[in-house]
Amino acid sequence: MDRSVASRRSFLQATAGGLFVSASLTSPDTRAAETNSGIRVANPVSGDVLRTQAELSPDAQYLLEQPRAIPVVGKTEVLVCGGGPAGIAAALAAARAGATVQLIEVAGCLGGVWTAGLLTKILDAENKSGIMAELLHRFATQGSAVANQTGGTVYDPEIAKLVLEDVCLEAGVKIRLHTRLVGAVTDSNRRVVAVLTESKSGREAWLAERFVDCSGDGDLAAHAGCRFDLGVGKDCECQPMSMLALLTGIDADAVRPYIRETAPAAKRLLLELMEEHGLSPSYRGPTLRHLHSDIFSIMTNHEYGVSAFDANAISESTIRARREIHELVSGLRRIGGPWKNIAVVATAEQIGVREGRRIRGRYKITANDLAIGLKHQEAVCTAKFPIDVHALNSHGNKEINLAFKQGGHQPYDIPYPALIAEDVDGLLLAGRCISGDFIAHSSYRVTGNSVPMGEAAGLAAAVSIQKQVMPHELKWSEIKS
Ligand SMILES: Cc1cc2nc3c(=O)[nH]c(=O)nc-3n(C[C@H](O)[C@H](O)[C@H](O)COP(=O)(O)OP(=O)(O)OC[C@H]3O[C@@H](n4cnc5c(N)ncnc54)[C@H](O)[C@@H]3O)c2cc1C
Repeated sequence: MDRSVASRRSFLQATAGGLFVSASLTSPDTRAAETNSGIRVANPVSGDVLRTQAELSPDAQYLLEQPRAIPVVGKTEVLVCGGGPAGIAAALAAARAGATVQLIEVAGCLGGVWTAGLLTKILDAENKSGIMAELLHRFATQGSAVANQTGGTVYDPEIAKLVLEDVCLEAGVKIRLHTRLVGAVTDSNRRVVAVLTESKSGREAWLAERFVDCSGDGDLAAHAGCRFDLGVGKDCECQPMSMLALLTGIDADAVRPYIRETAPAAKRLLLELMEEHGLSPSYRGPTLRHLHSDIFSIMTNHEYGVSAFDANAISESTIRARREIHELVSGLRRIGGPWKNIAVVATAEQIGVREGRRIRGRYKITANDLAIGLKHQEAVCTAKFPIDVHALNSHGNKEINLAFKQGGHQPYDIPYPALIAEDVDGLLLAGRCISGDFIAHSSYRVTGNSVPMGEAAGLAAAVSIQKQVMPHELKWSEIKS
């Protein structure tokens, strides 16, 4: 055997407690709890862990992890993965319909791109009722004068964090933050029955009657074995990622022509100003928003060709994007005048991911549905937002790729079956991971649609439990009545 492999193997045996050591001896600290069944579990309060037992494969390319008992820490009726715009609505709707609900979110706050992503603008919400209207009302009344004037569609991410926690807690939703879903288990009938998570509490298992994947990237569904589509073409090219940021130190009245909400030519004028001063943003539609008093948000970055599933690429693009924002802000400061005191308040904790998996559902929304303005008898909402494909690479126009708009677009319905996973039972989808093609996704993905989708999926999960049928056995008319 190669000496380096041999030495690495013995290192692993030493550090991992050794393959030949029984599980009960692998934790040096004897405080790890023993259950009635004699299974050892980690003790999160004391900080004890269950140590990993593993062997390096002969070619040193894989670590072969040994089976271990995962504690079941939650049993709930509806489990929602992801607490973004779709997940909040799913959790709320299910809880308000009487189900016990567990919401699992990897970030340290609720809201997804609304908060961790510092989005600040809700699109395609004007024609929505229900939870979307309720959240807009709370963002507006609890927020700044700008939030109030825009009916909550331009909101403060910190107010959004608070509002979302309040509404979920008021409805009795159990919230687990800082926890990533890393696996899903199906039974012999292809029904999802459990998920696995990782967090500071270790690896944990959760059981539920129904699951709703609101992870944006379709993580739960993929772990459950569902088929999915990604991007466009044989290379699965995806829309670029973008990091957003909050700014301060700008004279709001003096920069009014550059503010998106108050000046129709704002994006073009801001780009021209930047270019006049030698600044070349990677996104050619730089978008400045006034949030309140002396706080603004900006989107001026595009990260091309980054896979939502490549942690190295995401890390590199995050670092690159943050650097670009700081460089641009320094450049604007050098212009002087109303920009002379501009400073970055915060860059987004999570770089904005436009595209992840589009899970195969029991209906697939297509570009043709947009072209004809689909009217569907199982519509959960109507989407009006246009086809919006940002440039897929840095060649040529780095803003919007107009070629994808050729088929045209009219308001179209989002049918309930597009929210039901095709390949497994008991799993609903909401938000940008629902079933659709590349072009349709570029329209329905905005958050004014994610919320009603989540609301529909959460309600369907709860009603299907009450009626003791699977979600795909119900028509939308039976659910909403
Ligand atoms: C740069 C950018 C600009 C945009 N501009 C706008 C705009 O102006 N207005 C608008 O309305 N829309 C906009 N969009 C589109 C919109 O933000 C998204 O499509 C929308 O967020 C979809 O909502 P969602 O709930 O499906 O996903 P997300 O907001 O992505 O929420 C998913 C949640 O799931 C969590 N999660 C993911 N994986 C796991 C896991 N394995 N375990 C636990 N939790 C997990 C995430 O942390 C996140 O909180 C923009 C998107 C981007 C990226």
